[in-house]
Amino acid sequence: MGPEGDAAPTWPPVRPELRGLEPYGAPQLAVPVLLNVNENPYPPSAEVVAEITRSVSESAATLNRYPDRELGALRAALADYLGHGVTPEGVWAANGSNEVMLHLLQAFGGPGRVALSFAPTYSMYPEYARNTHTAWVVGRREQDFSLDLDHARELVAECRPSVLLVPSPNNPTGTALPLVTVEALCEAVGDTGLVVVDEAYAEFRRAGTPSALELLPAHRNLVVTRTMSKAFALAGARLGYLAADPAVCRALRVVRLPYHLSTVTQAVAVAALRHAGDLLGQVDALRAERDGLVGWLRAEGYAVADSDANFVLFGCFPDRDAVWQGLLDEGVLVRATGPEGWLRVSVGTPEEMAAFRRALTQVRSAMREADR
Ligand code: PMP
Repeated sequence: MGPEGDAAPTWPPVRPELRGLEPYGAPQLAVPVLLNVNENPYPPSAEVVAEITRSVSESAATLNRYPDRELGALRAALADYLGHGVTPEGVWAANGSNEVMLHLLQAFGGPGRVALSFAPTYSMYPEYARNTHTAWVVGRREQDFSLDLDHARELVAECRPSVLLVPSPNNPTGTALPLVTVEALCEAVGDTGLVVVDEAYAEFRRAGTPSALELLPAHRNLVVTRTMSKAFALAGARLGYLAADPAVCRALRVVRLPYHLSTVTQAVAVAALRHAGDLLGQVDALRAERDGLVGWLRAEGYAVADSDANFVLFGCFPDRDAVWQGLLDEGVLVRATGPEGWLRVSVGTPEEMAAFRRALTQVRSAMREADR
């Protein structure tokens, strides 16, 4: 008998709800133009590489010891970078904001509790919920991908989420949340839950779009998550973090694995933060490239979501998979994600964007030719 009482148990004896599932992740293909996972296309400068190397090399001499479990130097450096009165006790960090959010769900979700978001949204959220046995409820977004506050309030009242997850800018649409919406969500959720504003792409937001960090002093149920994977050009380092009420951070320390962030990761991140200005140096160029891309796609007649991020959602295609494949055949990898008919393209270097525009033009004319 298997653990579920079935006469012929399946192998391996995995949890029934995981049977047959594929792991999350976009294809990692060796093609010339990679525009599918919203990385920063610019590698760290030679100075930053040298500084990180020095820091790692110093830390290597201490690798017989476990790392600093409380992440002291790192949390202080992150608090300093965030500003807005954030203190080291109000910062938490882990292996990518993916793990930060898993910690949130482990500590604040769980059996009998609800996590809520609004689709289309980041496709990892339901996986954190599944993995922590948290019920997953998803509301809808408006036609322009903004949030309808009345709908959001109704859903909050109905399902009383212990964690409400909203990216701002949203992935895959690029839509940022106005602060009045974040405030209204904090008020609606109240002290029985957390409002997690996932600001993975915050550094790319357009002038005049504020960060939810501004609201932290007034709302103890607000959590703002960030990452070094995007604007900071350090996706390979795996460093995500959050700012919140120190009481929230203390609760996260209960669920983390001991020594979850290696000495090497901490050394890389602290060295990188000393050079934040250098690492973020291409952000303005990427924002300008994004705005140019939005303009070009619109001029070509595509539907395009307004974007405060380093990617653009565009459509609508009767067969998006065929367009995705056509672009891949031209050496350009984008992401078939979000609502049916739409594709998401990350913002790359000017050369990469020129290659994308050429490929899309080529795919479109080949498709028109085939339709004749
Ligand atoms: N949040 C959002 C909205 C994302 O798009 C991503 C990465 N695609 C993440 C969080 C996780 O990023 P990381 O784990 O690299 O910090």
